[in-house]
Amino acid sequence: MDADLDICAWWRAAADPDVDLAIRAMHSEVAEAVRRQRPICLASGRCCAFREHGHRLYLTGLEAAWTWMDLVRRGDPLPAAAARSGALESLTCPLLRDGLCGAHASRPSGCRVYFCDRAAQSWQPDLMERLHGQVRALHDARGVPYEYSEWIGLLGRVGDAWDKGVLSAPASP
Ligand code: SF4
Repeated sequence: MDADLDICAWWRAAADPDVDLAIRAMHSEVAEAVRRQRPICLASGRCCAFREHGHRLYLTGLEAAWTWMDLVRRGDPLPAAAARSGALESLTCPLLRDGLCGAHASRPSGCRVYFCDRAAQSWQPDLMERLHGQVRALHDARGVPYEYSEWIGLLGRVGDAWDKGVLSAPASP
């Protein structure tokens, strides 16, 4: 139940128009950096199969709630419970479809920043740290419980709360 309380707090914060704007501004900051740096991306989807790719994506509860909410607002497909639990086993993002991100417009900043291109190492870590600081500040400013953990697990918990009806439908943008 306490876990649901945290998820409800993330959800309420994600629905706040100022928080929404702040998150979208972070995404614009990443887009600008990517435009400048031009990392190579083959859009293979390999980096979304975390076990095979040998890395993990970590982010905050607020970002996971925002992503789910944005998918709902857009009317985009949500990963079903079976896909979410399969993803926990396989460590492949349940939003990956046919090798492409099924949440491209809603994906969290960690997905936007990550490139396997080795040249990206010169700017990626600083940008990741700066974005993480911004999200942390959003959590703190709103008094939202802070949790920084692995993406597939977080997304699964938000999805479980959604399926249980614990989270109310967001207002249209
Ligand atoms: S949200 Fe999209 S980009 Fe991010 S891990 Fe999932 S499929 Fe990949």
